Amino acid sequence: MSVTESAPKGVIPAHLLRGQKALVTGANSGIGMATAIGLGRAGADVVVNYVAGREDAEKVVEEITSLGVRAAAYEADVSQEDQVVAMMDWMVREFGTIDILVANAGLQRDATIMEMTLAQWQKVLDVNLTGQFLCAREATKEFVRRGVVPEVSRAAGKIICMSSVHQIIPWSGHVNYASSKGGVLMMMQTLAQELAPKKIRVNAVAPGAIRTPINRSAWETPEAERDLLQLIPYGRVGDPEDVAHAVVALASDLLDYVVGATLYVDGGMTLFPGFATGG
Ligand code: NAP
Repeated sequence: MSVTESAPKGVIPAHLLRGQKALVTGANSGIGMATAIGLGRAGADVVVNYVAGREDAEKVVEEITSLGVRAAAYEADVSQEDQVVAMMDWMVREFGTIDILVANAGLQRDATIMEMTLAQWQKVLDVNLTGQFLCAREATKEFVRRGVVPEVSRAAGKIICMSSVHQIIPWSGHVNYASSKGGVLMMMQTLAQELAPKKIRVNAVAPGAIRTPINRSAWETPEAERDLLQLIPYGRVGDPEDVAHAVVALASDLLDYVVGATLYVDGGMTLFPGFATGG
């Protein structure tokens, strides 16, 4: 997906997040990219984290900057503690603080259980789960240090974990990925419980099938897309902007009383579509 394919302007209220500082991990591609741009459209300044694709990250920064807010790219591997600590220190120095963390970076290394190497298992857990833990921990330190600034937001900070329908739907051939997202669900709920008294809201967005590079093989050919649509009652594959809009809403004070929730953005994939005509 190119930057220019992103959501129609005007859908997101332009001042919803004005004055807030957001960090989106894995923001040079797919859902993270659309989310970073969506947050920019809502008036937030945005740090665009990436691990490898600097050029794509710079394009995202350019698009966000053209909206009249501030943006910058920052390279860090979210699974590496020292890099996450350095990223957060840098953000607080350069942007003044952080109000919104979107822990989005994630990947797949698919194999059946007998074929799966320890390295494949570990890599997915390290990025998808430990990466979110590290980013959440460092962001929380800044939220607590700064506290609530009422003219900016009712909350001291917002953490949005990018989960997946596979936090509850088992997924044969992807035990590392499904386990990581199952872990994200319990991590999110536990942090939400722990941090709510500090006025920090922790929630998750759980996408279904969204058209991004991570799952290209599932929608790239008409046959693959037809099979995929069997799983989606709403009858279309999702766009990254569908997820971005959910993140923007969760990050805003419109949803200030939403704590520890998972917002499924899946066209009904979690509604057991097989039971629509059977069972
Ligand atoms: P994507 O286009 O492949 O984007 C993944 C992003 O994560 C990329 O920017 C990637 O950077 C980054 N990343 C990977 N490892 C990283 C690391 N160690 N440190 C920092 N960044 C890292 O896939 P996507 O679909 O947008 O996925 C985004 C999130 O949505 C993931 O958590 C995924 O599990 C979740 N999700 C996606 C779907 C879907 O249908 N697409 C459904 C459910 C959940 P590089 O490109 O530089 O590697």
